[in-house]
Amino acid sequence: MDSFRALLIRRDEATKKQSIAVETLTDTDLMEGDVDVRVEQSTLNYKDGLAITGRLPVVRRFPMVPGIDLAGIVIRSNHPGIALGDRVILNGWGVGETHLGAFAEKARVKGDWLIPLPPSLSGAEAMAIGTAGYTSMLAVMALERHGLKPEAGPLVVTGASGGVGSVAVMLLDRLGYGVEAVTGRVEEAGYLRSLGATAIVPRGELSGETKPLARERWAGGIDAVGGRILANVLSMTRSEGAIAACGNAAGMDLPASVAPFILRGVSLLGINSVYVPKALRIEAWDRLARDLDRDRLKAMTSTIGFGDIQTAAEDIVAGRVRGRIVVDMNS
Ligand code: NDP
Repeated sequence: MDSFRALLIRRDEATKKQSIAVETLTDTDLMEGDVDVRVEQSTLNYKDGLAITGRLPVVRRFPMVPGIDLAGIVIRSNHPGIALGDRVILNGWGVGETHLGAFAEKARVKGDWLIPLPPSLSGAEAMAIGTAGYTSMLAVMALERHGLKPEAGPLVVTGASGGVGSVAVMLLDRLGYGVEAVTGRVEEAGYLRSLGATAIVPRGELSGETKPLARERWAGGIDAVGGRILANVLSMTRSEGAIAACGNAAGMDLPASVAPFILRGVSLLGINSVYVPKALRIEAWDRLARDLDRDRLKAMTSTIGFGDIQTAAEDIVAGRVRGRIVVDMNS
């Protein structure tokens, strides 16, 4: 594979404006790495949407191939633990941000960033999970480490129709928790119930002014949106509960009071999936391979081709995407 297609973001340094196009690259364009992977599937995450549209400064090196997740086959390896023909996946590590990423037919990466595709998952299923689903699992594991048990009461998931939210609803239901899904798209109530939500909470209920403490509603939860919604969720979390915060779809700010922390012992657990050590990644992926309902995963996933990535990027930052998107790099 001497030359290959890649989606490339360039930036005009004078105007600071970025442009994006499909280009043909060769090996000399690639960055350092001891393993080459033929990318078979990728996925579109919210962060990829931000990178492609330039809405937030996700990309920190130009030109950049966006795409933070890949599944593929090893076609060159100088890494002792990785052999030709291995099926591998990669999430994060700055790929698609500081290192050329997944929206290309070939990626050159550090072997240490790769983990083996869990044997019971296909590459397409792994990408249906992607960083969004793997982050949901990291959030679930953080809540478990906090000691949260299903009998403590219902949990809340915000941004529920999105990728992180949909997988979180599925996982928590599967693990026996009651799950209340917060959504701005109440027309998706049927979809969210099909994933396991026991109640639907219209987003508007949580977007008003935040009281220091409000009626205790949830034993804990997973927040994908931040901003005032997270502030309100914290004020409604029961004593000794915990919220795993992993996203900013509603904003980077957190206009909250310390009251839930100091008067109810509520914990805010931060989740950053990008630089998680390999052992924890493998544990999270093993859990995903075991705990995710494959039929539900399939029902919440749509597949697009390489040529559709830019349109889908606009859709995801506009909050128009439901569930997860797999990118089939061969189409
Ligand atoms: P999606 O776009 O798939 O989902 C985000 C969801 O948030 C939307 O579907 C929508 O759900 C809700 N939402 C969108 N806009 C707003 C708004 N203005 N106010 C309130 N809710 C809103 O993105 P992902 O699920 O892939 O990612 C979710 C967040 O998690 C992103 O901010 C992403 O950057 C972050 N993330 C962080 C990671 C980490 O390592 N910490 C890893 C992966 C993702 P609904 O219509 O149901 O309300």
